[in-house]
Amino acid sequence: MANTLSSTTIKSLTAIVGPEHVTTTAEELLCYAYDGTALEYPPAAVIFPGSAAEIGRIMELANRVPFAVVPRGAGTGMTGGALAVRGGVVLAMSRLNRILEIDTANQIAVVEPGVITGQFQAEVQRLGLFYPPDPASAAFCTMGGNVAECAGGPSAVKYGVTRDYVRGLEIVLPDGRLLVTGVRTAKGVAGYDLTRLFVGSEGTLGIITKIIVSLLAAPEARQTFLVLCASMAQATGLVTKILAQHHPCTLEYMDTTALQIVAHSLPAPLPAAAKALLLLELDGDQASLVHQSQALTTFLASCPDLIAVHQATDPAEANALWAARRAISPAAFSLRPHKMSEDVVVPRTRIPDLVAFTQELGKRLGLVIFTFGHAGDGNIHVNIMLDRSKPDEVSQANRAKEQLFAKVLALGGTLSGEHGIGITKAAFLPMELSPVAMAVTQDIKHLFDPNGVLNPGKILPTGSA
Ligand SMILES: Cc1cc2nc3c(=O)[nH]c(=O)nc-3n(C[C@H](O)[C@H](O)[C@H](O)COP(=O)(O)OP(=O)(O)OC[C@H]3O[C@@H](n4cnc5c(N)ncnc54)[C@H](O)[C@@H]3O)c2cc1C
Repeated sequence: MANTLSSTTIKSLTAIVGPEHVTTTAEELLCYAYDGTALEYPPAAVIFPGSAAEIGRIMELANRVPFAVVPRGAGTGMTGGALAVRGGVVLAMSRLNRILEIDTANQIAVVEPGVITGQFQAEVQRLGLFYPPDPASAAFCTMGGNVAECAGGPSAVKYGVTRDYVRGLEIVLPDGRLLVTGVRTAKGVAGYDLTRLFVGSEGTLGIITKIIVSLLAAPEARQTFLVLCASMAQATGLVTKILAQHHPCTLEYMDTTALQIVAHSLPAPLPAAAKALLLLELDGDQASLVHQSQALTTFLASCPDLIAVHQATDPAEANALWAARRAISPAAFSLRPHKMSEDVVVPRTRIPDLVAFTQELGKRLGLVIFTFGHAGDGNIHVNIMLDRSKPDEVSQANRAKEQLFAKVLALGGTLSGEHGIGITKAAFLPMELSPVAMAVTQDIKHLFDPNGVLNPGKILPTGSA
């Protein structure tokens, strides 16, 4: 499969989508060469299809020529899934950006993949409904990218992740056929659960062109709590105790470094003794919220040696706290120019072990490693900071990543909670999946995409299917 495209292929692509929806200029290709990893792989062309039918014809052409096709939402992915690592075509889904239907009575919606998640959330909220999956990138990532990565966010601790809301999909298969999966109803077990197979498949099995999601009634109110702790061990140790008796809709953690890099965005100055933070939110109707808040306050008051417990006094303060939480990822670059951002998951009871391990690992390998994230579901973002222009740091960071993954698996965890495998973790997948599971994964990929034209080089280690 050639990385470049012949002029005949470009002409054929142009005939399918129209000249205004094909770009091959170097500047534009560079814009589509990146994602959240900051790795760089320019494609040979970027195509902006306007319908599933056009995508079907592009896939037929891709198999005939052949060339690689890489689906792309907003390019915020953290594992290189939207990068054209084998050249070919990036299929930008930005024209397929309509909310097709919001059925308030049945609490479902049908959207195209290029809809921006935050805009969709705002639209359903206007109708008194609630779409819970809330990646920190919601303001700019797409629903299609969320389904392809099975995105999660702070609210996953109570409401689950994208997978829990996808009822059905329309997908263009790698050979160009149109597959419709799933149901519009609350229940459905007709045949294999093909929908689930595609959720989290990182654009390697098909191109999602429509998504049916379920919605919930919007909670009446929320209350945000800030818990400042004297140590990381204290904060991480509290997580299981809180969840034993309380039902927060978010339970986020920041370690000392994360706190320091966003301290200036917090609404109030941070006491010097605060070395870690938990950010919790309760939701529900007004009466239950009062009851829940009282119970949580009583519990936290009984915890010895907390530095401070604070309830946000108004939505503006709560928003400021959440803005600081969302700012951690970009603020990390004030530490070093690059980062490896891992989103490992461990059983909640093992978070203290994981965090202590990352501290020790950073010291041992001479790296800045810090942690924050969705403590409520054990999904801790481990950030290994580095300067990629320094070969020593790169090799130390690679060692750190491998040792981190080994530790996570030993603790009973998994390599990724929400960012997927992409290219950055493909080589490590066999650490987690058994040889049988790897073989079945390769067989599934081969079944759907025998010519390997759809998003090659992702999930499976290089050299396999
Ligand atoms: C600052 C920041 C914060 C983030 N916070 C979170 C977080 O809290 N939770 C979380 O889960 N993620 C988070 N992410 C990661 C990222 O936003 C998610 O993975 C998101 O789901 C990617 O969506 P996207 O539209 O940008 O997809 P892209 O990056 O464009 O693509 C991601 C993958 O989806 C595939 N894909 C895209 N569209 C389609 C389609 N229509 N059909 C088939 N495959 C498709 C691509 O091929 C690729 O493999 C964060 C990223 C950033 C930069």
